[in-house]
Order: sequence, then C-alpha cells, then structure tokens
Amino acid sequence: MQTSHSKKPFFLALACLSLAGLVSCNSSSAASSDIVVSFYPLEFLASRIVGGKLSVSSIVPPGSEPHDFELKTSDVMKLYDTKAVFLNGLGMEPFESSVKTHPNLGPKTTVLADSLDNLITVIPSTGGSYVDPHIWLDTDIYATMGKAMLDKIVTISPENRALFESNYASLVADLSALKSYGQGLGLSGKTIAVSHDAFRYMGREFGFEELFINGFSPNDEPSASALQSLLDAIEEKGIDTIFFEELENQDIATYIATQTGAKVEVLSPLETITEGENYFSVYRRNLDKIAEAKSK
Ligand SMILES: [Zn+2]
Repeated sequence: MQTSHSKKPFFLALACLSLAGLVSCNSSSAASSDIVVSFYPLEFLASRIVGGKLSVSSIVPPGSEPHDFELKTSDVMKLYDTKAVFLNGLGMEPFESSVKTHPNLGPKTTVLADSLDNLITVIPSTGGSYVDPHIWLDTDIYATMGKAMLDKIVTISPENRALFESNYASLVADLSALKSYGQGLGLSGKTIAVSHDAFRYMGREFGFEELFINGFSPNDEPSASALQSLLDAIEEKGIDTIFFEELENQDIATYIATQTGAKVEVLSPLETITEGENYFSVYRRNLDKIAEAKSK
C-alpha cells in the first residue's frame, strides 16, 4: 500500500480500507478541526493552550465512555485535514493502533503517555500487569502532557508561539493552585471505595487509597468472591460512601451501599464532561467529596 499521496479521495479510500470493521464509506466530508484529540482531558488541555486561535475537537463526544469507544468512518473523515492528533495512550483508546498505523493520520499523531515517566503499574490479583492509563488525574503529569502538546502545537502554528506559551504558563499556575487546594484538605491516610479503578494517580498525589468494585473499565463486573472481599473491606475500614461515576450502571454500587449502610455519591474520572463544567470545577468537587467521605 502506498503511504504518500496528497489527493483527498485517495486518502478517503485508504481510510475506508485500513480501519477494520467499517462497512461503508460515503464521500461527504466533515470539516476537520486544526487539532483533534481522543477524549475530554486532552480536549481541555489543547483548548487552554490554543485559547481559540486554532480549532479543537474530540473524537469521543461528551457523554460517551472512551474505554470502549469504536472509531467510525465519520470519525476518520473528521481527522482527515487536521494538523495534529493527540492520544492519551496506555490502552485508553481502543482505536490507538488504527490511528497510529493509518497512512494519513499516523505521522500527525502524538501519543502523550509516550513521553511520561513516574507512571503507576498495576498488578491485578488475576495476574499480569498493566500501566494505569488515568494519567490526567495526576496534576503534575497533566502539566507534562500539556508541555508535550504545546511543543507540537507551536510547530503547526509558529506565529502564535508566544501566546500559546503564555496560555500554557497560566494552565500550569491553575494546576499548581488545584494541587495546593487538594493538599490543604487533609486526604492523607484516607481510604475511599470507588466503582471504577480510575483514581490511583489522584490517590498517590493526595495520599489516599482506593478500593474498587470494577476494574480498568467501568463496565467490568466483579466476581462474587471479589464483591464479598470488597464488602468486608468496606466494613473493616468504616467507609461511609460508595463512589460511582456518571457514565456507568450504578446497580452494583447501590447494592454495596445497601449491604453496608453506606451512601452513594458521584466521583468523576473526568473521562467526559457535562455542559458548564471543566477539568478544574470537576476535579475540585471530586476533592471536596473525598474530603467529606469518612473512613478509619
Ligand atoms: Zn477509566
């Protein structure tokens, strides 16, 4: 297969050929944004850096779960004319390899996790290991992701370098203020119960531990024995709140709450966003809710 060609119809044909599972490709072209990211935290980073000078859009739309999002033909069309594509990496995007190996998109794609260290390796009781992909919940790592993004964005719009650098500095200052706020809440030594195993980075940063009901993806379900040991741990730790997230079925969280007398609260891993909210407003509310939750 050829890898260099500038004619759009040819690339649309390639897009149709090279993404498995596509059943049709129509020829209507959606407008591309200058920058395309995979899901919300990356969209927020890019938007803060470019400050409206370039257009930014997200592959995973608001209200969708990125862990099991499938890329469709129309999504690929949106990527076609874009100048830069940013992915989180670490298995967060099921479509990562489709994008990276795509002849048009691959060369424009930056996987932000590739330039990071200090990541958390998880060793599940079922064996094996993986690196926790929820990296945007560590405020220092999030700033580093922003720096990698900035470095790429100034290459596609060098005339705006000073503005982008200044916007990035303001973002870093906001992240630093968020970190100080969280450090002032006294979360250290606390244990929280969450439905989705997404808060390890936040826990490492602010000193709390998580017990989780589901695994890596919010739609995983615990085995009966895992559920029983979780009930025992909640009892033993004196946990009074079970956190679940907006996008998932809360039946199991509710069941655990009724079994243990705990209440149920929302804690957002910021994988998506609702109207009127942003990374900072949601992160702060998460911190406040963790501060209110009790444990021994
Ligand atoms: Zn997640």
